[in-house]
Amino acid sequence: MATHDMPLSRRQALAALTGAVLLPLAGPAAASVRHERHFLFGSPVDVMLRHAPEEAVQAPLDRVMRGLQHIHAQWNAWKPGELGRINQAFREGRSARVTPALLAMIRSAARLERASAGFFNPGIGGVVQAWGFHDDVMRPGDRPAAAALAGWREAAPSLAQIETRGDALASRNPRLQLDFGAYAKGVAIDRALDEFAARGQGEALVNLGGNLGAMGTAGWQIGIRDPFGEGLVASLATRGREAVVTSGSYERFRVLDGERCTHILDPSSAAPAQGLVSVTVLHRCAALADAAATALLVAGPRRWREVAQRMGVTQVLAIGPDGRGMASGALAPRLQFASPSWRGRIATV
Ligand code: ADP
Ligand code: MG
Repeated sequence: MATHDMPLSRRQALAALTGAVLLPLAGPAAASVRHERHFLFGSPVDVMLRHAPEEAVQAPLDRVMRGLQHIHAQWNAWKPGELGRINQAFREGRSARVTPALLAMIRSAARLERASAGFFNPGIGGVVQAWGFHDDVMRPGDRPAAAALAGWREAAPSLAQIETRGDALASRNPRLQLDFGAYAKGVAIDRALDEFAARGQGEALVNLGGNLGAMGTAGWQIGIRDPFGEGLVASLATRGREAVVTSGSYERFRVLDGERCTHILDPSSAAPAQGLVSVTVLHRCAALADAAATALLVAGPRRWREVAQRMGVTQVLAIGPDGRGMASGALAPRLQFASPSWRGRIATV
């Protein structure tokens, strides 16, 4: 278990992370912070605890890491685990047992699918697989056959098609395959912060590969990464308990028939989302922010505001492929732009 009491250097903070980064701490603020880094979900997991004496933190830290590992192992559609077994049962028209924790996640995801008007659809596993985004490695290749995508669109999988029978789940739609790639990290961040709060560690930050949740009275200074290269678009200080979650079409993509295809898919076309390269959502609830960031990226430049409103999200930064962006009125005054160029390219809407 890696423990560092040193502040992160700016280069370390920016390396290997997408979405948001924790900015380097300076002076007394740095000395009182304990930092742990692990690797999970294929990316770094950073936990920072402020004013946390060694003897008080080990037990909550171990519990949080075990919780994150459980989510990673059991709720990943593409690894053998609870979610994989449920997907297999759906394909075969059988019912499958579900744990109360996964059932709670499925129910909250179903509500968010509805609220998002279907732009966020965690029943999209079949399309994710058709495009080859279930693989750890993003190899070049060919686009999936149009007929396969049309078949999926016709079957129109949705979490509304799940039936609960006691402690078991079933679905009459064999094309429904759950994939919580757009949601589980948010759920994991909320659970980690809940765990720290319940154990008296109220000054904490959890960063899962650029999606972060923070809490505490002092706030944490974080940066929103430039989707086109190194560096930042802007920085801001978190307020109380708050998550900052980014969906970006730049971080995971495949080159198919010579064209760059993002891993974020539009359920209405069963094809990669177009029109925005990154959406960052700030919200008290990391799970909601995660679902919303994905939904808004899919909704695109013309519809993201309507979907944000439907989902109860007010703080949004959306950036398009031309390097121009929009910040919602509730977020814009909080942003400290990293350059005059970014300030000039982000409109308040
Ligand atoms: P990140 O990969 O950075 O966490 P997202 O939160 O947007 O980004 O999640 C993208 C993942 O969610 C994809 O890899 C896929 O597994 C799944 N997914 C893709 N499109 C959708 C969608 N429209 N609704 C729900 N899940 C999606
Ligand atoms: Mg998401």
